[in-house]
Amino acid sequence: MAVQTTEKDYYLNFVNGEWVPSSTNERTKNINPANNDDLVGYVQKSTKEDLDQAVAAAKAAQKEWKNLSGDERGKILYKAADILESRIDEVAETMTREMGKTLPEAKGETARGVAIFRYYAGEGMRKVGDVIPSTDKDAFMFTTRVPLGVVGVITPWNFPVAIPIWKAAPALIYGNTVVLKPATETAVTCAKVFECLAEAGFPAGVVNMVSGPGSVIGQGLAEHSDVNGITFTGSNSVGKQIGQTVLARGGKYQLEMGGKNPVIVAADADLDLAVDATISGGFRSTGQKCTATSRVIVQSDVYEAFKEKLLTKIKDITIGNGLEDNVWMGPSASENQLNTVLSYIQKGVEEGGSLLLGGERLSGETYDKGYFVQPTVFEGVTSDMTIAQEEIFGPVLALMKVDSIEEALDLANDVEYGLSASIFTTNIQKMLSFINEMDAGLVRINAESAGVELQAPFGGMKQSSSHSREQGQAAVEFFTSIKTVFVK
Ligand code: NAP
Repeated sequence: MAVQTTEKDYYLNFVNGEWVPSSTNERTKNINPANNDDLVGYVQKSTKEDLDQAVAAAKAAQKEWKNLSGDERGKILYKAADILESRIDEVAETMTREMGKTLPEAKGETARGVAIFRYYAGEGMRKVGDVIPSTDKDAFMFTTRVPLGVVGVITPWNFPVAIPIWKAAPALIYGNTVVLKPATETAVTCAKVFECLAEAGFPAGVVNMVSGPGSVIGQGLAEHSDVNGITFTGSNSVGKQIGQTVLARGGKYQLEMGGKNPVIVAADADLDLAVDATISGGFRSTGQKCTATSRVIVQSDVYEAFKEKLLTKIKDITIGNGLEDNVWMGPSASENQLNTVLSYIQKGVEEGGSLLLGGERLSGETYDKGYFVQPTVFEGVTSDMTIAQEEIFGPVLALMKVDSIEEALDLANDVEYGLSASIFTTNIQKMLSFINEMDAGLVRINAESAGVELQAPFGGMKQSSSHSREQGQAAVEFFTSIKTVFVK
């Protein structure tokens, strides 16, 4: 079903069951970062007044929604899954055009969105509480869980289908209503997901989407006294600001932020496996995943062999418009993102890193209308350098040489972040040391740093995340409150 537009390529907000323009009717133009002649669409530049209407609609709808059975709510989520599944090709193509990831990756992400809807639809029929023995033999004590109320969802551009769904689906199944603010850069893709939600049959006001600047709509959600919980994924700086704002008014928040994810390659590793996983973790989605591999810490015994294999394979990466069949890596998602990546590369050189490969913006007929950067590898990187500490969010790897696994672990932990980390080793003792000592929410053995199955808890330590986890049954912690019931 097409979005109801007043003119071509003009995407509206979804508020109280209807597609509506913002009160000022101002819009932002979204183009393809691989080809800036390709217009993807215009999205609403909404105001605080538009947001207030959406929150009011969500608040009004919440009582009726929470009083449906979990099974009834689940049936609507199953329907949303079926509709999205029937539109995977179209939604994925929009995603590729709007933020540049390749079409197979975009299809994979959309299929994941379908699976997440189905997973949480099923949660409507699972237990939400525990029986607790009372010291009074005549009493019965148990816990149940109740929704928060209205949940504000603020999402980034790098997973414009999966992240909105993995936040909205658990919020909805547990009886909350939702006001979602998509990243402006990928708001057309998110509108496509909302077309599926609109068709699935949610009562008016249960799901709402308001596009607009983060400083207005995102901040407005964080400040809004009728929004009971905020779930945010994005950068560390914005996340911290949102956390402080929500905390100051006594609301509940969940933050998923950046990473500076290491891969450790031990002397006994399967080097081919480690090379393939490093390339996939570092360069898939043009390095724009919070779990992307960024630091590669290699034991000196195999450093040269690993480096040679890595550089040889990276040279085979095909770069271009993600819509084309043979392309493995697309552009940076925006000009702004490209410039950020290039400035980190420059800093890496200035601070003494040795550039082994890449480092420049790509030019030529295939690249001039987009924001393409070469896959880049540094060596001689030390922990005090900016490129060893800050999240780059681009296809840049920093190689670091160490003599022992203890040294590798110290280096791996020597950052503010703690999202994901991998080790490649065949030695069980090294695996166990890594599991015990690595400060990361996702600890992966002989597997790339990026990726976690949707039924497993997702989140990080240190500056990467706030307390509660996303995904799987862990999501119930954020999206509900516990009620302890005593019956006598
Ligand atoms: P971002 O700039 O922090 O934006 C994220 C969202 O926050 C967008 O919707 C943005 O709106 C909004 N926003 C911006 N300023 C705001 C403000 N002052 N108040 C409230 N909301 C505001 O992040 P991004 O560049 O979209 O995404 C990349 C970041 O996300 C990276 O750091 C990456 O590591 C992180 N990420 C983390 C995870 C995870 O699960 N840990 C997953 C994916 C991405 P606008 O788009 O309108 O600016």
